[in-house]
Amino acid sequence: MPNIYERLGVRTIINAKGPSTRLSGAIMPPEVAAAMGEASQHCVDMAELQGRANEIIAEITGAEAGYVTSGAAAGLLLGTAACVTGLDPGKMNRLPDTRGMKAEVVVPRSHRNFYDHAVRAAGVTLVEVGIADRFSGAGMRDTEPWEIVDAISERTAAVLYVAHPNAMPPLTGRGRPLKTTREPSIVDAAAQLPPREILRRVIADGADLVVFSGGKAIRGPQSAGILCGRRSLIAAAALQNLDLDIVYEMWNPPASLFDKDSLAGLPQHGIGRSCKVGKEEVVGLVTALRLYAAGDVEEECRNWSALARELYEGLRGLANARVEYLADSYRPGVPGVRLTLGEKAAGKTAPELIRELQDGDPAIAVDQSRMREGVVGLTVICMEPGDPPVIARRMKELLA
Ligand SMILES: *Cc1c(COP(=O)(O)O)cnc(C)c1O
Repeated sequence: MPNIYERLGVRTIINAKGPSTRLSGAIMPPEVAAAMGEASQHCVDMAELQGRANEIIAEITGAEAGYVTSGAAAGLLLGTAACVTGLDPGKMNRLPDTRGMKAEVVVPRSHRNFYDHAVRAAGVTLVEVGIADRFSGAGMRDTEPWEIVDAISERTAAVLYVAHPNAMPPLTGRGRPLKTTREPSIVDAAAQLPPREILRRVIADGADLVVFSGGKAIRGPQSAGILCGRRSLIAAAALQNLDLDIVYEMWNPPASLFDKDSLAGLPQHGIGRSCKVGKEEVVGLVTALRLYAAGDVEEECRNWSALARELYEGLRGLANARVEYLADSYRPGVPGVRLTLGEKAAGKTAPELIRELQDGDPAIAVDQSRMREGVVGLTVICMEPGDPPVIARRMKELLA
């Protein structure tokens, strides 16, 4: 029986690039897909469901509280809004108009990226610090913890930090940038898994809020993510995301997430209402997160190495290309293969080869981040058994 994409006339892709939104995220474990299907067959109170998700996320991440968002980017918007408004319903109603509120977010200049649009969408201005001199080859200091502290003023709502193994200043060690200020920190750790320890480490390093993508290594729904951290901030984020078309007396929120009596009143639908999360996503995310956290790391490593070995053996001996086995590709510990094309391998440049791979049949997506240096990157994190020989065959055809 043809699959749903064949019936729709849409090609499926062999994903050697890794989980990315453009390529529809990762492939969900069947248990997660089944949980989402089951979730779709009942109605629930969404606040109650998020209250339960809160407990599960808190237990797995070590954070005080957690919330399921419609992706990590939505988590950045909701987390920023929470830092600006706190639990004040009047401020929540006024966003994105931040007049009279703390509305600056301090960020190391070298951490700027397109996802920080989601931070700015809350109505704040980014205040950049440091100089990304490492990337121009002219220096090495980038940003130091004191520069973050120096930029903080009475207008500062939060500090934004984008986690990456090479990010400066480092999260741990001397200076501990997230521990040097009283202002809340928001850490974008969307794509920092694996290793699994990151789920707990960023909070342990002092982050007040952290976002993770649900549709990358966690293999949950593509349109789900996690926002976790300080309970009052998570409550403020939740109030700006949940549908609040209900009068205060009738509202019976989960006590794990909200102290109803400490709220001055209920805001109207907030700035995050357009980042709606479905019950299927909440259930899918917590199911995927539990599976991921309890996953057998050694078995995962064995499966990944077997795929990467098979791919490497299949590609070895390609004409006009250097083929290397990589122990670390998409993330540390995720193996892959790197092809470096000769000046004109079979008359093709790397961008040309990558175009043919993506547009051909089967369609194969690869990492194109270093294509201008002649490099074609392949990672196994989203590969399925049976993919390596298909990739090797196609590559040989195109480079013959
Ligand atoms: C993928 C990614 C995001 C966005 O995550 P979604 O779950 O797709 O919203 C944000 N920041 C970084 C650094 C990412 O890699």
